[in-house]
Amino acid sequence: MAIIITDECINCGACEPECPNTAIYEGAEDWKYADGTDLEGDIVLPNGKNANADEEQEPISDEIYYIVADKCTECKGFHEEPQCAAVCPVDCCVPDDDNVETEEELLAKQSFMHNE
Ligand code: SF4
Ligand code: SF4
Repeated sequence: MAIIITDECINCGACEPECPNTAIYEGAEDWKYADGTDLEGDIVLPNGKNANADEEQEPISDEIYYIVADKCTECKGFHEEPQCAAVCPVDCCVPDDDNVETEEELLAKQSFMHNE
């Protein structure tokens, strides 16, 4: 399952550089599938969604740091545990019950983004 940042976030920024998938963005910043991945041009995500990797997407939050669920693999394929949750000083990076995925799905997502 993906991780989500709750509104307890204090905008410290500690989590952002830790994400191996560049799935974390500062509030109000646009995001792209291409950021920090090998994706480019038109793509079909493992979940069937169509997108353009180079297109800027609307921020998911204007107020606090946010995680793009489509890019979060819960750090599978890179680390033993979610790195954002490990560094967050207020423990506001928590499992997202609305985005539950199996380990196989998370690993497939990771290799899709990084061409392994
Ligand atoms: S769990 Fe890992 S992949 Fe997901 S947002 Fe946090 S650091 Fe990024
Ligand atoms: S580490 Fe935690 S408090 Fe800091 S920006 Fe990330 S989610 Fe917010």
